[in-house]
Amino acid sequence: MKSEIAFRRTSREVKVGDVTIGGTHPIVVQSMTITDTRDVEATVAECERLADAGCEMARVAVVDDAAANSLRAINERIRLPLIADIHFNFKHALTAIEQGVDKVRINPGNIGGEKKFREVIRRLRDAGMPSRIGVNAGSLEMDLIERDGFPTSDGLVESAMRHIETCYEEDYRDFVVSLKSSSVPMTINAYRKFAATDCDQPLHLGVTEAGDPQYGAIKSAAGLGGLLVDGIGDTIRVSLLGDPCLEIPVAFDILKATGRRVISPEIVACPSCGRIEIDLEKIVDEVKERLGRSKLPVIVSVLGCIVNGPGEAREADIGIAAGRGYGMLFKKGVMVRKLEENEMVDALVHEIEQMEKALEATS
Ligand code: SF4
Repeated sequence: MKSEIAFRRTSREVKVGDVTIGGTHPIVVQSMTITDTRDVEATVAECERLADAGCEMARVAVVDDAAANSLRAINERIRLPLIADIHFNFKHALTAIEQGVDKVRINPGNIGGEKKFREVIRRLRDAGMPSRIGVNAGSLEMDLIERDGFPTSDGLVESAMRHIETCYEEDYRDFVVSLKSSSVPMTINAYRKFAATDCDQPLHLGVTEAGDPQYGAIKSAAGLGGLLVDGIGDTIRVSLLGDPCLEIPVAFDILKATGRRVISPEIVACPSCGRIEIDLEKIVDEVKERLGRSKLPVIVSVLGCIVNGPGEAREADIGIAAGRGYGMLFKKGVMVRKLEENEMVDALVHEIEQMEKALEATS
């Protein structure tokens, strides 16, 4: 089948610790701790929990001198590259650089003016340290707000281009760019307009203040999904209220649903309808649980009836269509075997394990 996924936007590589953002590298999933960064033990523990959850970079808030001076101690004890998140006080950025973090996130709109921004950029350049230039709708320059009447996607892009130009003037190119807003339409428009420019700095995607876990996941999927399909984005963060570990599976599911980074089976099920004659939810739960550790990037379809099912899932690599008392195993929409009801899940899981073994043998 012809791929409907657009080519990925060309971007330069930015190396953060042992992870590379941009180029043809996998889209990186990152998150941010909610611990007090001055509490080294708690912050290390949360970074390690994030690593266990599959997160690939951890950002921590630098709220004062004590937090800035805790960064080295944290970085020495965690597995993930450490990003210092700086707002308002440029001196905290300078301390973070001295502390040897892996990346600094700066918002040029609230760092205290161009002179201080340039000083941070020069220190980053001299230290060979990457950063994120994070433009935010909440801290756009006043002339852009006065021009448009309120924050806009045009304003976000123009602001980012100004700051990028400053970085280039200082001979500093080792940075990622973000253009964030809590509005999904503004976020999408800003990234699309930025992607249409000649600038090749990698892009960090995110929707700020997305919300509680349920609505935040939906808002993030709405904001990030279309951009990822368009080939825009080199690293993502899903912002959810509460435990940051909850963000990680949502981020990987968005990457999976958009086809941008598939590191486990995509299990899809029909919604069921009046034709159904089995407990489909139970079957789907069992398949999900038994494939929980699989790394095979395949689409697995579980359908509620034998007549319509396979046709409805032609894009699936493998699946079962279940009827009363028996089911059919199919591959790419073609029936391959009839199964008793009690052997359906075993047969499906076995086939997928065989596919995984075959892939391992050839890689
Ligand atoms: Fe209904 Fe069958 Fe379609 Fe499921 S596959 S929604 S049971 S027609």
